Amino acid sequence: MVAAQLARKGVESILIEGGCRVGRGIAYSTAEPAHVLNVCAESMSAWVDDPEHFARWFETQGGEASDFAQRRLFGRYLDAVLGEARATGKVRLVEQKAVAAAPNGEAWTVELADGETIEASAVVLANGNQPPDPLPMSNFARFIGNPWSAEAHDAIADAAATDADVLIIGTGLTMIDTVLSLDAAGHRGRIVALSRRGLVPHAHADHLPAPVELDEVPLGNARLLLRWLRERGARVGWRAAIDALRPHSHAVWQGLPLEEQRRFMRHARPWWDVRRHRIAPEVSQRLHDLIAEGRLEIVVGRLAEVREDGDTLDVRISRRGGDRETRLSVAYAFNSTGPLHAMGRTRDPMLRQMLDDKLIRPDALGIGLEVDERSRVAGSERAWAMGPLTKGRYWEIIAVPDISGQAAAVADDIAMELGR
Ligand SMILES: Cc1cc2nc3c(=O)[nH]c(=O)nc-3n(C[C@H](O)[C@H](O)[C@H](O)COP(=O)(O)OP(=O)(O)OC[C@H]3O[C@@H](n4cnc5c(N)ncnc54)[C@H](O)[C@@H]3O)c2cc1C
Repeated sequence: MVAAQLARKGVESILIEGGCRVGRGIAYSTAEPAHVLNVCAESMSAWVDDPEHFARWFETQGGEASDFAQRRLFGRYLDAVLGEARATGKVRLVEQKAVAAAPNGEAWTVELADGETIEASAVVLANGNQPPDPLPMSNFARFIGNPWSAEAHDAIADAAATDADVLIIGTGLTMIDTVLSLDAAGHRGRIVALSRRGLVPHAHADHLPAPVELDEVPLGNARLLLRWLRERGARVGWRAAIDALRPHSHAVWQGLPLEEQRRFMRHARPWWDVRRHRIAPEVSQRLHDLIAEGRLEIVVGRLAEVREDGDTLDVRISRRGGDRETRLSVAYAFNSTGPLHAMGRTRDPMLRQMLDDKLIRPDALGIGLEVDERSRVAGSERAWAMGPLTKGRYWEIIAVPDISGQAAAVADDIAMELGR
């Protein structure tokens, strides 16, 4: 989106993609039709100044603005946006992993995995979500550490072919993707999804909007904010109460002192995530059907032990609220605990090197990079960060409606900085 915005301004850019997912990233490179957007088409425009851009494109494909489009279709839309930008001759594509970056006088030099280097006047870090933290049993062959990898894809196909039981660690959006992929592949074994609270994302449902002004929202205290949200939710419905905060989410987040942000992450994040990042009603219905058929079980507890025994993993789960234990024998376990939430532990070679060389630094919460109000990274000149890398500053900056606005602002800032 930044490259497309820059092309419109006549600023040339080089897009470096090392994961064979040009323009689509992890979310929209899925080939699975069952993976649908969790935001309806009318809110998914790549262009903040043309909010119906995706909805119009989607209608040409037979969809409706209020539908939840397949993510692979949204990927095709992003291809079209990028294709248009490339047609201007202002965007060059380099399909290589970036492994290092350093300032070089007024410019930046980015080193690629094949040893080539690229010079640019400015750099935008848009590495996206980082794979989850490895779990202690990550070295087992049948433990799938990265749910978005080719290895995960192969494991799903194999589990479906044998109808083997599987364990999914995590019960959020990544778990849902894995369940839907197994289901679509024809898997008929048992799926156990485990998390400490057992919270699963709620479904979207029609509701009347109940907008609020920022000055009605209590700022500065996480507990008061949540109490206010609950009370308001009881009056106008929790969906309306949560959605009313969307236009103010950055101001509300930045209004919380650091200790309050920490408190929110510690106590309210799971509650918030399953309500704020809701799923399409048809996806929710499918999960309920799978639970009713006994094919999916959501277990509240923690992983006590995993042992490898030939072609299976023997798993011991401690259930919450008692001394009950569950033992399972599964063909695969998937780490679906969600993206890495600790920037200091990134395994991306370029981010690692930039952190080590103090060209970038983690934000005060340690969940992203420290950036200023224009998304410029602290510690370097002419360097910006985007999307999930900036969640410490903005919190709600992972979905397209938020990122599209940030992309436009960053492109404006780059053009201004470069005097274009
Ligand atoms: C599974 C999933 C489903 C989602 N569904 C929705 C949804 O329905 N609606 C919504 O609004 N949001 C959704 N999101 C959130 C959101 O759209 C993404 O988080 C968003 O795409 C982030 O954009 P990004 O460009 O910052 O990162 P990404 O889209 O992740 O792209 C980053 C790209 O950078 C590449 N890369 C990383 N490091 C390097 C490197 N060192 N060198 C070269 N290339 C590198 C990666 O291969 C990747 O292609 C979803 C996210 C996920 C993970």
